This record gives sequence, structure tokens and C-alpha cells, in this order.
Amino acid sequence: MVEIMRLLLQFPEGLKKKAFEMKNQYEKEGHDVFISVSPCYGACDLAFDEARHIKADKLIHFGHNRFVNTDSDIVVEYIPYHIDIDIKSLEKVLKDIKDYKNIALVTTIQHTHQFEGIRSFFEKNGKQVFAEPGEHAIERGQVLGCDTSGLRKIIDKVEAVVFIGDGIFHPLAIDFEKPVFVFNPYSKIVKNLSADIETLKKRKKGAIAKALTCKKFGIMLSTKIGQTNIKAAEWAKKELEKRGFECITLVANEMDPMAINNLMDIECLVNTACPRISDDQEKFGKPILNIGVLKELFLIIDANTV
Ligand code: SF4
Repeated sequence: MVEIMRLLLQFPEGLKKKAFEMKNQYEKEGHDVFISVSPCYGACDLAFDEARHIKADKLIHFGHNRFVNTDSDIVVEYIPYHIDIDIKSLEKVLKDIKDYKNIALVTTIQHTHQFEGIRSFFEKNGKQVFAEPGEHAIERGQVLGCDTSGLRKIIDKVEAVVFIGDGIFHPLAIDFEKPVFVFNPYSKIVKNLSADIETLKKRKKGAIAKALTCKKFGIMLSTKIGQTNIKAAEWAKKELEKRGFECITLVANEMDPMAINNLMDIECLVNTACPRISDDQEKFGKPILNIGVLKELFLIIDANTV
């Protein structure tokens, strides 16, 4: 017999269109169903506050797999959303990677269920394929915009990286001095990502150069369960103040450029949340340094301090 529960359903933006269908399905089973409509970008972002507020028995998170271990009072069920790709269409990639024998194969959770089929396609075509699970991206070959640790394990064994998936949000996190080829299984277009990665690196250098002229820093601390990093925020504040900078720690669930810019004086932001926020620095109108980049800034400052 099905245990009747109060459910909160949570969808990432691309899957919110499924809300009615899933609500109807759970209601047919007799459950009391609510939908979280707050923006959701990843499994780092579980709607615990809303779930507690409505006294939900369970949060059902669609589209992602487990990201954080939590001992929360709210039970979480993850329902990944898998999309089949046409494996034969991978032939399009072969021309671009003809000079590379050893390749790293990476993809998103939407396609990890076909990992073996994709791997076998490349191996039948003469490639040696490498892939490992990462820390948060827990499936073999899976990457996230914040986790390429699986790829790091095998990067020395390969000459190129092949990413299968839609968009460049995830592969832009790949920063290993190896060519990255992105195959979009929907448009069937292959893209060499080297130029985009180079642009990101230049933007990072530009952000450091600008930060060197700034005196007032805002440290972004997210309340999203998988993004919150109070230790990093405290460390950044201590280290910035030690070097004579003024700092303020900004706490929010969603980092909103307008709300942040209403604190008129902030010249530079330090990001302790989702590392992809720093890709959006134009929206904030000021440099955004992830913690690794802040460390680079400190190296430059300290080297120039007598
Ligand atoms: S890349 Fe950002 S949004 Fe995606 S899982 Fe990681 S922290 Fe969350």
C-alpha cells in the first residue's frame, strides 16, 4: 500500500514544464503535492526551506542525482532525467578527434545511462576511452560546472577530452590544457572549445588586474545547501583584511546583481558559492574572484609587498 505523503516537487529550469504532468501522477496515487517554483540550477540547490515551510514529508528533486550528503529532517528523493542520444550520430565527432588515440569521455547526468554505449562506439572506432566518477559528479564520466574531479584523475592519460551534451556550461569548467571537443547530440554540431576556454582565462586575468585596483570587497556566501561555504568566506575575509582591504560578507540564497549593487561601495566580489557565478561578472558590473583566483591575487600582492 502506498504511504500517502505531502510532497514538494522541485525541477531545474529546463524541466519545470513537467510540473503539471508529475503533479497529476503523484496526486493520482493520493499524495498532497506542492511545486517549488524558486529558481533551481543544480542538485546543490535543494528546496529545504520551502519543504519545511509547508511541512513536506518528502522533497522530490528532478533532473539531477545526489550532490550533497545531508542529515536534514527532510527526506530527499532524486529522480534524474535521462535523454537518449542517437549513438550513430557520434560519427560526426570522429573527424575532429582523428589525431587523438586516447580520449577522456565526459557527459552530463542526462546521458550517463548511455555511457557504456558511447564508450563502446568510440572504442570500436579505434579510441581508448578513459573516464572516472568525481566527488559530486558521482557517475562515471559525469561532470558538473563545479566538479571535474573525475576527469582530473585520468587527464594525464589522454590527449583530448570529448564532452557529449547540450550547451557549454559544463565543459567550460574543464581547464586542463587539453583540447576539448563538445558534441551537441541535439543539433549534431561539434565545437572545439579551446577558444572559449582561452577567453575565460583572459577574463580571469582581467578580473585579477581590476581587483588589484580595488579597496572594498564583498564576499558572497550562499545559503544553498550544496553551495554554502562559511569557512571559505571567513578565510577570505581574514586574509583580505590582513592585507588592508575593507570587506563585507553578503549572505543570500540567490546572488542578485541589483541587490548587491545597491550596496553602493563594493568594488570587487569574492565568490564562495557556485563557481560558475564568476562567468557572469558583466551582470554584476565588477570583477568576481572565485577562491582559487583570490589566492592568485594574494600571491601577486604578497610578491610585491616588501
Ligand atoms: S555547477 Fe553550480 S549550480 Fe551546478 S551543481 Fe555545481 S554548484 Fe550547483
